[in-house]
Formats: sequence, structure tokens, C-alpha cells
Amino acid sequence: MDGRLKSVMVIGAGIAGIQASLDLAERGIKVDLIEKNACIGGRMAQLDKTFPTNDCSICILAPKLAECSRHPNITLRTLSEVQKVEGTAGNFTVKVLTHARYVKEDACINCGLCVEKCPMRVDDDFDMQLRKRRAIFIDYVQGVPAIMSIDKEKCLWFTKSACRLCEKACEREAIDFDQEDKEIEINVASIIAAIGYDVFNPKSIISLGYERFPNVVTSLEFERLICASGPLDGHLIRPFDKKEPKKLAFINCVGSRDLKNNPYCSSCCCMYTTKEAMIAYEHDNEIQTSIFYIDLRAGGKGFRKYIQRGSEDYAIEYVKGKVAKILQDEQKNPIVVYEDINTFEVKELQFDLVILATSMIPNKDAVKLSEILGIKLDEFNFFKGMTYYPQKSTKEGIFLCGACREPMDIPNSVIDASGAAAKAAETVMRV
Ligand SMILES: Cc1cc2nc3c(=O)[nH]c(=O)nc-3n(C[C@H](O)[C@H](O)[C@H](O)COP(=O)(O)OP(=O)(O)OC[C@H]3O[C@@H](n4cnc5c(N)ncnc54)[C@H](O)[C@@H]3O)c2cc1C
Ligand code: SF4
Ligand code: SF4
Repeated sequence: MDGRLKSVMVIGAGIAGIQASLDLAERGIKVDLIEKNACIGGRMAQLDKTFPTNDCSICILAPKLAECSRHPNITLRTLSEVQKVEGTAGNFTVKVLTHARYVKEDACINCGLCVEKCPMRVDDDFDMQLRKRRAIFIDYVQGVPAIMSIDKEKCLWFTKSACRLCEKACEREAIDFDQEDKEIEINVASIIAAIGYDVFNPKSIISLGYERFPNVVTSLEFERLICASGPLDGHLIRPFDKKEPKKLAFINCVGSRDLKNNPYCSSCCCMYTTKEAMIAYEHDNEIQTSIFYIDLRAGGKGFRKYIQRGSEDYAIEYVKGKVAKILQDEQKNPIVVYEDINTFEVKELQFDLVILATSMIPNKDAVKLSEILGIKLDEFNFFKGMTYYPQKSTKEGIFLCGACREPMDIPNSVIDASGAAAKAAETVMRV
């Protein structure tokens, strides 16, 4: 029997894919962990702190990233995508395309000399386009693997046959412009899909002023703005006029529970807006926050208490009201116009900064990957799980975990991952 058939492929290396891989690897099962970005970690790496403990997100994640990259049973395949899957449970053949990094993995020591010399400034996706990175870059400071990669679309050598300054700067001779994309076939007994989610772009809700008003941002942007490793080094100012905001408004359910956009609940926003308001207060206790909500969905263990702490210890005002629109005054301060659900009155409040808690939406790769894997999607394009075993996809031997299945927070993604890993291990045992 092919030894590889005792292995599992995990697609997506966010917290869910990482946890599933570690669980399997600890059971002695070989794992191929496929990640399309140059570094693993997913959205959790972008967060400043995490509810319900308000621990530093990267401090919780970093040991798992390191364990994943060092574990003898895990083969990490970054810059990689699944192209084709054939076979059945117990014997899948998967074609994987790995894009060239143009930096030798065994030579780069992440010293950054190349980055200093690179003249190309590019919008930084990890920082939600709130700052620029170079064409040679690492996704984030603590990124794993700690190796640079070159953005071929933006690099002057690939676009204009010029430059190569990074090559001259690198004392380790790690730059390799001749690297090519590689296709390999891998045999595995089982597959776990863990490709996570995307965030809704609120630009389409014109009344909320996103991208029209400089002091209206999204929650994920706010996570980066307030993070010590983010574009403002953790000193919260309005990017527009450098003023320290003292009055913040968070608007829950932007694009969620909304028949025109996404009718489902994104499940995390009630909690993460409270967390973001708490962190803002910890930065500057003159900050006053209002959270506008339809109703507070705080169903998890200790979540009610967390919200209570928000209002008692962090001066958060919870306003039960449906926001109709956002206007702005002459100083570009946003004005929230809302209907007070208790009195049915339409009211206006002026703020320094408004933060939109936008929906978690299906990953844009979900449709294509569902076709490749031969699994079904639900009505919203999240991967469809079985009602009484949600980590089981509609195809034998293929399992699901994390926010690619439905919006879920980090603790639930971890639980989900362990469930999917247990089921995938059963398939391996049967081979
Ligand atoms: C603003 C905001 C704040 C939040 N704050 C909190 C919080 O404080 N506490 C909490 O518990 N939760 C929080 N969450 C939710 C949290 O982000 C998710 O629970 C968690 O990230 C889900 O992990 P995941 O691994 O399922 O998905 P992701 O984190 O999305 O990871 C998916 C991984 O798959 C990779 N991938 C995608 N497509 C492919 C492909 N085709 N092939 C290969 N790889 C692919 C991605 O690059 C990524 O690395 C927050 C969410 C938001 C939007
Ligand atoms: S490519 Fe070279 S210069 Fe750049 S970080 Fe790696 S070792 Fe340093
Ligand atoms: S060759 Fe490309 S990556 Fe290297 S320094 Fe020039 S623009 Fe940057």
C-alpha cells in the first residue's frame, strides 16, 4: 500500500486548518497543509486582540504557527492551490500548483535588506490597504514561514525587465528570478477544507458613506489601525487629519441580517465590536463609544458578562437602533442617523470615527473549490455540511471546518477543526 494513503490534505491554513493539521499530526498522521498565501495564519493574524479573553491574537497564534512549521508530520505548502481532485474516500489524487516565491526557502533569513532597497510601493492587503509594502515582502512581521516572497505582478524585473536591487542587496544570494511554478500530485486518504471567509465590502450600501467619508472604516480596518504592529503603530488617530478620535460609533450587522445583502447572522460581530470598543478605551480612557445594534447576540459562554463589563467598566453605550444613514459635517465628522427602536424616533448623533461591523461572507474561492472537490454549497455559498454532522461535506472522505462552513468565531473554529480532524483520521484508519 502507498504510505501516502495514510495522509490527509488540509486546504487553508487559518486557525481552523492549523488546528486540524496539528491534531492529525499528533496522532501520527501525515498532513499536507495547502495555503494560498505566502504565510500561514489567516484572519486571526490580522486581529489585534481576541474576545472573549482580550488576549493578544498573535501571541495565541504564534506558537501554533511555529509548531505547524516544525512538526515532522506536517508538510507546509504555501503559495499553493488545489487544481484537481480525483478518486474516492481513502484514495484521493490531488493536483497542487505551487507558485514560485522567487526567494530560496533554504537561504532567506528574513533580514529585510532586500526590502529596504526595493523601490516598488504596493497596497498592503494584510493591512487592509492602509499602508504600502514593497514588491519583495513578508505578509506580516511574525509571518511563518519567515521567508520573503516577490510579488510578480508588481516587481519591476517581471514587469519592466529592470531593477534587481533586491538581488544585489541580498548577502545570502537568496533571490532566484528563475524559479518556476510547480505542479505535483499527492495521494491522500482524506481532505479537509478550511478556506475561511471574506469580508463584505460596505461600499454597496451607499447610505453608510464608506469610501465617500474618510472617517468611516470597517472593523477589520480598525483591527489594523489599533494594532501595535499596524500602520499607526497602535496609536489611534484618524488617518485623514491625524486627530485622536474621542467619540466612536460601531454599527453592528452591516450587510448581515439584511435581505438585500446577506440574510444570515455573522455571529461574531456583537462580540468583536465590544472587544474593539474595550481596546480603544484601554488606549485612551477619554474615548466614549456607542454600539448601535438590532439585538445583541451574545449566546456563548460568558458572553453576556463580557457585554456587561463593556458597559460598566469601559463606558460603552449600547444603543438599540437601526442606522438609516451616515452624513458628515464640514470637519468631516460622521453623523449617525438612526431610528431609536424603543421610541421609534429618528435621531442624529455626531462622532469622530464610525466603524462598520461588516458581514463575514463566503470565501471567493468557495464556488471553484466546491467544483474541484465535488462537494455542495449551501444557499449562501458556504460549504454545505450534513445537518447532524456539520463537519462532514456532501462527499465521503471530505470534511469541513471553520468559517468556510458558516460564520464562526475562533473558539468554535478550533472545536470544528478538532471534529473534522477526528473524522478524517477515521477515514485514514480504514485504509
Ligand atoms: C473584524 C473581525 C474581528 C474578529 N475578532 C474576533 C475575535 O476577537 N475573537 C474571535 O473568536 N473571532 C473573531 N473574529 C472571527 C475570526 O476571524 C474567525 O473565527 C477565524 O478567522 C476563522 O478561522 P478560519 O481558519 O476558519 O478562516 P480564516 O482565518 O479565513 O483562514 C482561512 C485560510 O485559508 C486560506 N485560503 C483561502 N482560500 C484558499 C484556497 N483556495 N486554497 C488554499 N488556502 C486558501 C486563507 O489564505 C487563510 O489562511 C473576527 C472577525 C472579524 C471580521
Ligand atoms: S531575500 Fe536575502 S536580503 Fe531579503 S530577507 Fe531574505 S536573506 Fe535577507
Ligand atoms: S527586482 Fe522587484 S522585488 Fe527586487 S527590488 Fe526590484 S522591484 Fe523590488
